[in-house]
Amino acid sequence: MEQQEMSALDAYLNRVYKIIILMPPIAAMMAAICFTIFKLIGWYAIVNTTALIIFDIFNLTYLTIAIYLFRTCIGKDGLLKPGKLKTGKIFISTIILIQWNFISYMVPAREWWAFAFFFIVLAVFFFDMKMISFVTIGIVISIMISWTLSGDSLMLQSGDYFMPDLILRVICITLTTSTLFALTYFGGKFLVEELEKYVNYDTLTHLLNRRSMGNYLQAAHRHAETGKTTFCLLLLDIDDFKKVNDTHGHDCGDEVLKYVAGTVSTSVRKNDSVFRWGGEEILVLLDMDEDKAVEMAERIRQDIEKNSVKYRDGIVVNVTVTIGVSSYIGGRSIQDMMDDADAKLYFGKRNGKNQVVNILPSDHEVEINT
Ligand code: GH3
Ligand code: MG
Ligand code: MG
Repeated sequence: MEQQEMSALDAYLNRVYKIIILMPPIAAMMAAICFTIFKLIGWYAIVNTTALIIFDIFNLTYLTIAIYLFRTCIGKDGLLKPGKLKTGKIFISTIILIQWNFISYMVPAREWWAFAFFFIVLAVFFFDMKMISFVTIGIVISIMISWTLSGDSLMLQSGDYFMPDLILRVICITLTTSTLFALTYFGGKFLVEELEKYVNYDTLTHLLNRRSMGNYLQAAHRHAETGKTTFCLLLLDIDDFKKVNDTHGHDCGDEVLKYVAGTVSTSVRKNDSVFRWGGEEILVLLDMDEDKAVEMAERIRQDIEKNSVKYRDGIVVNVTVTIGVSSYIGGRSIQDMMDDADAKLYFGKRNGKNQVVNILPSDHEVEINT
């Protein structure tokens, strides 16, 4: 079965969605149960009974919706449905904000603002900056409004403890919000991106590695099969690379490899993908038609030939490459295209190297040529 292209963050959400969608409603339900018991044993006399009943109904509703999402979030392919992720984010953000406002008005005597961190942190599990910002700003605004309404305002109150209280509250809110932003940004975005690099990129050339290639090729192939797009593959091999290694050493060979990888990467456009296919073989995926791909291959070939690698002790190494071009034709599999590109590359190697091969003469002509 074809595997969808999935980022590390998507894979994470795929695994944790069921937990992070249930956790906040369960926490909220526990609050509802606590308040109800407290009220029944007479602790929270201040709580209005009608408000508490509405609070309980709200919490039962959250839990019901969460269970529904829990049961329907996985598609036939065994993966999280993208729509459910969006619904989940809106749902959890809404619960957090409603719940916050509910408790701060239902039990106004408490310094609830000290609990802000706990409320906002429930949104962090999605590692979505937009969601965290929305929830954080929502909570901060809610705190301000509830202070103003209860006469315990940040701005209005004065007296002996005015300044220290004010400073303490501002520090607490600033720390809370900045910690949450940092957690999401560095934890979610940076960490996931770094992990992705380790998994998908080659450490020497910084090109995408062979492991990640399947996803890209399958996605391009799937697109092309709909008839809306097309794509081409370039298979590139450095000419006489063994000689470079033998003459100047393996380190110099590595420099040449980096030079070729860098040149290919800068020659192609932003949405084209470049992979380290093998030792000194590079595969380029271009979403363009055959004519443009041949032009691109020729440009890459010339760019590599034009400059040279300056290795230490004044060693200058000239590098050339041979490139086989294969274009998508309806019904062709990825393997067919790879074989085609490989055959063309091989043909180029046997016919003088440093060239782009797009059309393969018939077997008969090949025999004459060789
Ligand atoms: P041709 O023009 O026919 O391609 O000749 P060639 O010498 O390049 O032959 P071939 O493609 O078979 O050579 C592959 C060589 O690449 C063999 C291997 O030692 C070298 N090689 C593979 N990976 C690396 C690498 O990461 N670093 C270095 N320095 N050399 C590598
Ligand atoms: Mg080779
Ligand atoms: Mg080679």
